[in-house]
Amino acid sequence: MMLERTLVLLKPCTIERVLVGEIVSRFEKKGLRIAGMKMMQLDDEILADHYSHLVGKSFFGILKESMMRTPVIAMCLEGIDAITVVRNITGSTNGRLADVGTIRGDYCMSNQQNIVHASDSPESAEIELKRFFRPEEIFDLGDLNLPRLYALDEL
Ligand code: GDP
Repeated sequence: MMLERTLVLLKPCTIERVLVGEIVSRFEKKGLRIAGMKMMQLDDEILADHYSHLVGKSFFGILKESMMRTPVIAMCLEGIDAITVVRNITGSTNGRLADVGTIRGDYCMSNQQNIVHASDSPESAEIELKRFFRPEEIFDLGDLNLPRLYALDEL
């Protein structure tokens, strides 16, 4: 069985626009399991790590500010191929260009205020989960609903 885990952040724009339940529900309805979830206030240090690939960009300052405006909600989602599945549900960065049916395509108009962050590869998922969660904050859900979510030959 290849259950993967990935990091999702519900960004401050999602909290401000009162879309938390709606967005969590999209992931739940898909069949992704919530293995960890918490609210946290981000600071300069964690954002400098998290967005280190964007440090030189002209928009880095406003991006950081926007991520500190309210707390964020961090989620560890799990499922078979969860990293790819969550990126596909999330849609492309710019909400104006993101496909209809994706979270960004359905809920935002912005290239920055784009509702969620989602890890983009197995390597990032591993690093990012460690960045936002202590090991004991991610839970082993065991079998739970796995036989309802997948066929026996997928498990
Ligand atoms: P993601 O993996 O789709 O989130 O995209 P990136 O890793 O390229 O960028 C990280 C985040 O930086 C995006 O989700 C946006 O919030 C923000 N961002 C990316 N490009 C721009 C830009 O051109 N302008 C601004 N203001 N923010 C951007």
